[in-house]
Amino acid sequence: VDLLSIAALGLLAGSAQAASVRLDRQPALLTELSLPSGERNGPADRALATGPWRVVATVGGVRTWETALPARTRTLFFHRPPGDVDLVRAVGPKADRWARTRPLSHRQGIESADRADTWEFSSQSLRVRRKIADGPPGVDEYAMGSTVALGREAALNLGSAGLSDSDARRLALRSVQVDDTTRHGLYLPAPARAVFEVRLPEGAVLQADATLLPPEALSATSSDGAWLQVDIEDGVTTTLGRWALNPRQKEALRLDLTPWAGKTVRLQLTTEAGQDGAHDYVFLAEPRLVTPEQKPPRLVVIFLDTVRVDHLPMYGYERNTTPTLQTWSQGAAVFTEARSVAPWTLPSTRTMLTGAQPERWSTAPRLQNLLAQKGWATAFLSGNVYLSSNFEMSQGWGTHRSLNWPRAQIQVDRAMSWLRSHADEPAFLMLHFMDAHLPYHEPIRYRSIFAGKRPEYFDSDGFLRSDITSAGKRLGDAGKQYVRDRYDGNLRYIDDQLSRLLSSLDDDAIVAIVADHGEEFWDHDGFEHGHTLYDELLRVPVIIRAPGLAPGRYDGAVSLLDLAPTLLKALDIDSTDADGLPLQGLTDGSDPRFQGRKIGFGRPLYGEAQWGVAAGGEKYITSEGIERVFDLSTDPGELDKLPDPDLNAWRFRLGDGVGRPAGQGFRLTASKASGSQPTVAQVTVPSGVLAAFAADDPLETGPVDIEVDDTVVTITWRTRSGSTPREVFVMPKFSLDQATPDVDLQLQDGALWAEGQPVRTMSSRPGARPTNLLSARADGRTVTLGVGVAPIPDASQASTSGYDAEVSGDLEALGYIER
Ligand SMILES: [Zn+2]
Repeated sequence: VDLLSIAALGLLAGSAQAASVRLDRQPALLTELSLPSGERNGPADRALATGPWRVVATVGGVRTWETALPARTRTLFFHRPPGDVDLVRAVGPKADRWARTRPLSHRQGIESADRADTWEFSSQSLRVRRKIADGPPGVDEYAMGSTVALGREAALNLGSAGLSDSDARRLALRSVQVDDTTRHGLYLPAPARAVFEVRLPEGAVLQADATLLPPEALSATSSDGAWLQVDIEDGVTTTLGRWALNPRQKEALRLDLTPWAGKTVRLQLTTEAGQDGAHDYVFLAEPRLVTPEQKPPRLVVIFLDTVRVDHLPMYGYERNTTPTLQTWSQGAAVFTEARSVAPWTLPSTRTMLTGAQPERWSTAPRLQNLLAQKGWATAFLSGNVYLSSNFEMSQGWGTHRSLNWPRAQIQVDRAMSWLRSHADEPAFLMLHFMDAHLPYHEPIRYRSIFAGKRPEYFDSDGFLRSDITSAGKRLGDAGKQYVRDRYDGNLRYIDDQLSRLLSSLDDDAIVAIVADHGEEFWDHDGFEHGHTLYDELLRVPVIIRAPGLAPGRYDGAVSLLDLAPTLLKALDIDSTDADGLPLQGLTDGSDPRFQGRKIGFGRPLYGEAQWGVAAGGEKYITSEGIERVFDLSTDPGELDKLPDPDLNAWRFRLGDGVGRPAGQGFRLTASKASGSQPTVAQVTVPSGVLAAFAADDPLETGPVDIEVDDTVVTITWRTRSGSTPREVFVMPKFSLDQATPDVDLQLQDGALWAEGQPVRTMSSRPGARPTNLLSARADGRTVTLGVGVAPIPDASQASTSGYDAEVSGDLEALGYIER
């Protein structure tokens, strides 16, 4: 290396901060914006299947016809349409076909090929079945209803007259999804114009992918193409290029701006309609000024879904499931006491990306946004429906790609290809692996590395949670071990694939390996995840290689909250808004906040509310009014609760751990609702009410209305028939002991109220305190008032919803929800 090239590298390093500017992340640089005014495509209540149609099967006098899917749903599985989707056929007289319509019934699969007037769909196509005698479908004979897709289509049609400046910016600087990929960029439906005023760095190249977005819902009209023009002004105007854009075609713009280096210029992007402006949805994905760098920084987060620490050799597993990671981690900081904030994917991932408690997701700054604002390319390659756009997980990324259950090989291929295509700019990649999550579908040769012959009660190697449940007692120790062995085989498969990625990265790349939660293998007589707060679900690997983090093993208390602050600190970016701590302060011993630290968690996906906190080698868990404390040093399996813990102190620690006050209050439960009538109860606390709130409802069992009028709380459960109503907590203003003698419960019984009667329901555990105090019955329903512990939600914070109508069928197919 000669002196000259060292000097050149120094210059590049010095200019690193200003090297790349992502125009879509810098609203301050967008000095002019004009968007088309007025509605153009007209409102539609259905998406028309406009054809062309082709025959795909003829069975028993019935033909199956296929055409492009008219409404872009985000569904992954197609065994039934989402609740808002249907298909109708126009059957009115010739002059007014749509005067009468007939709904078709959805029937999937080849066995329905002889059923006329049925339909099915896939991610790309719509199929209808007709009698041969009916001939081919007419133009506009079928239409698909999809409230969600039509809403997205409406959102692309700005009708911008009267848009405020900030609304217009929000509409233009946004994410859009096409197929499985969401990208952030500049939306300029023709005719539109955007001007960025910017000082051009040396060697800057303007890059963007220009496309004409496909409509979210088809109508009788379609785009006839549009134009994009880019001009640069610095006193004189120079046209850099003009492109004809056609649907589903991508123009990769790379415009050399070297002649204007060092100057402040106006970059003008103009779109024009073809013959008309219908559906001229011009989108520039990731418009950016890149000054190519020799060795730009790299940040890679390897996100292993469902990986429990005690199946990794770095955490003491006797089996070498991950030889690559074990060797690699010798040069990394390994955090041995890290816990997640929840036992399932969505809240955990939201915390990973923000360093904030999951409830702060909507307002907390996110890693991907912070880095994009600094000019970084960002990508999240994910493989879990909970990491899709339906759960807001595509927001803020330059590129977000959500596949359905991709194998590790596909993920690593895509990761390496993305990193190569961003070789000359700073790049942050989050790479997700679904392989350790049921159903296992590792390549054949990995199925027998640790596992023997498949038990006869599993029909296939890709057994589901429901197959394990229905195996019941037949499962036995051997069956359970078979499941564990297959899990381990998947870990080895991930590890083999990761070796390609890790060896392709330079030594100075920042790399973190984490999991969102673990997996239960009957440690507490249960299976899978989402249902408890025991350590087989909460303890997660956190292994980081970064400058400022000395390699070694650290047993200080760590939370997934700490991931984002640590990565930001390694990049010298402020993270004072986070709830977590930079782990540099633990590894170098400089941060006293790690002493006596409380790590909070909760938010199960299934069942009643559960909350807990780990502190000082002990762990507290509360649910259904029961509180338990385990000594993890003598009882790491959390099997024997301590006989006489100081529960008051633990309730304070819980508040510390979850970042909001927690305490004892009244806990109300209602019996399962049958029928559509809401259940209405009133609780009176004469000494005063501090707060009243319903527990989280991740699977959306239905709303609960709570009204507090001084000392009276009125609760209205509008729970879906057949679901268990959510718990409601009423926290007294003063101590629970003081409030208990005077508390009153009433349950609405038609025009009357049924009075709550004292109950003495003892916990099934000997020596436990009574948790239920009053119970009221009316009209076949029961409401019970007892005692429980919960953190008090901040009114400004959202709860996590793990339910989305559009993908409810997917959640069901994947075993997350049961019908
Ligand atoms: Zn997960």
